[in-house]
Amino acid sequence: MAVRITDECISCEACISECPVAAILEEGNEKNPNDDFFYVKPETCVECVDHADAPRCAEACPTEGAIVWDMPYTSEFNDYFSEKNDEGIYKIREHKSKGLMLPSVKEQKFISDISMADRESGANVQNF
Ligand code: SF4
Ligand code: SF4
Repeated sequence: MAVRITDECISCEACISECPVAAILEEGNEKNPNDDFFYVKPETCVECVDHADAPRCAEACPTEGAIVWDMPYTSEFNDYFSEKNDEGIYKIREHKSKGLMLPSVKEQKFISDISMADRESGANVQNF
């Protein structure tokens, strides 16, 4: 992944148009597993690597901490994303021929400077 949007989100829509890879879904979207707040597709988010110096969604967000760090979308964290997908926390895309687009199928870029402690604790991306 990625970054994750929490229930602190006030659905203001400011982040959607900022994402360079269209990874953010509004509430009500059938691919969003959350009923009443926005969602970042972990299989799509690249943490803005090669697009900006910092995650653009978090720069646009008016809240304090609706967008937090999640684990890198890499094979090392395949089980993490797979389990949480089974739990309904994520809704990872099902590809017609490749199947579920887990990190073992396709990894994504991530910012290597972010500590595992910050990722595990879901630290506020705005503090980056
Ligand atoms: S960090 Fe960048 S790529 Fe990821 S959801 Fe936010 S704007 Fe999109
Ligand atoms: S900018 Fe922040 S508050 Fe607004 S929709 Fe995105 S995550 Fe939610």
